Amino acid sequence: MDLYEYQGKELFKRFGIPVSDGRLATTPDEARKAAEEIGGQVVVKAQVLTGGRGKAGGVKLADDPADAEQKAKDIIGLDIRGHVVEKVWVERASEIAKEYYLSVTFDRGAKKPLFMFTTRGGVEIEEVAASNPDALVRLHVDALEGFQPWVARRLVYGAGVEDPGEQTQIASIVEQLYRCFVESDAMLCEINPLIVTPEGEVKALDSKFTVDDSALFRHPDIAELRDTSAADPLEAFAREQGVIYVKLDGTVGIVGNGAGLSMSTVDVVVVAGGRPANFLDLGGGGNAEGVVKALEVVTHDPQVKSILFNVFGGITRCDEVARGILEALGQMQISVPIVVRLDGTNAEEARKILADAAPPNLYVEPTMLDAARKAVELAA
Ligand code: GDP
Ligand code: MN
Repeated sequence: MDLYEYQGKELFKRFGIPVSDGRLATTPDEARKAAEEIGGQVVVKAQVLTGGRGKAGGVKLADDPADAEQKAKDIIGLDIRGHVVEKVWVERASEIAKEYYLSVTFDRGAKKPLFMFTTRGGVEIEEVAASNPDALVRLHVDALEGFQPWVARRLVYGAGVEDPGEQTQIASIVEQLYRCFVESDAMLCEINPLIVTPEGEVKALDSKFTVDDSALFRHPDIAELRDTSAADPLEAFAREQGVIYVKLDGTVGIVGNGAGLSMSTVDVVVVAGGRPANFLDLGGGGNAEGVVKALEVVTHDPQVKSILFNVFGGITRCDEVARGILEALGQMQISVPIVVRLDGTNAEEARKILADAAPPNLYVEPTMLDAARKAVELAA
């Protein structure tokens, strides 16, 4: 789950990392009021889940409240790399003497958190890594050992920060960021730029924050931040049902088990000349409850004209899935035809179960391609 800048900064603040005072605004009028409350020069910043907002005209300084209102007018509605701006963050403008970069991310290869720090901040870190690799200090933290003060010192000295005041402030921000990262179950916490003001004060001017979806149950306060308005309402519904679902724009609803098979099912529908309405992975759950949830999500989409059920029995047994389908059909009213292809463990038995019950509007096909063709034909 990616957090907006203002949400990431809220978490930074909780862990003691210095950020500027700011307010969220969804209209130019609110932006003006925010600027009035803050006083003085402010910066108006597009809140979208993508980087490079500055270059795209999504970050603008404003001298007074009227100017802030005008800048918000310019920014709200702006399309930044496919993300339409719906809210802006208005914060007290900072004077910038230097722009540094600090991040901690999870390095899957090393199975350890990885710090990256450079005094060449403000630009994309990939640029620094490519053009000036020596300027980028990389350092792993042993999760079992936990954070040690030398980690911060090595980053700060390694990057050549010479000012003692900066050294102390950055070292404590490194430690706070590590705590923030671990305690939020984050996958990435990035501060770019981490600025030094002309007075020598160090603070986070931006935030990029990704929390591990699998750990959200431990952080109801963070989970609540999820912006369901930005996502597809159907996807939000699917998430509530605990189903892995991606909305597509076709008419053949898809239920598969396993991400790979589900993706192949999407492809085979296209090969058969149809258009998939969604991607849905049943996961391990082939029982009635799992099938009901999956069918509820798929049939929620009014565009769906037929459903293709594609299951390969491995650990999940096909007969169990077949019973799940029958139970689900008993529990809910489904008006569109369902095509089923079952293969693998207990497939024979499963086909017999479905043939014996012979529910109306249910078709059993022997292969994936046959099933896809049938589903496409029924959706036409
Ligand atoms: P990004 O482009 O999406 O990474 O957005 P940032 O929040 O990093 O802002 C982009 C750039 O705008 C920063 O690198 C700064 O140079 C500039 N900027 C942002 N906030 C301020 C501010 O308070 N004062 C000044 N002078 N510049 C700012
Ligand atoms: Mn930035």
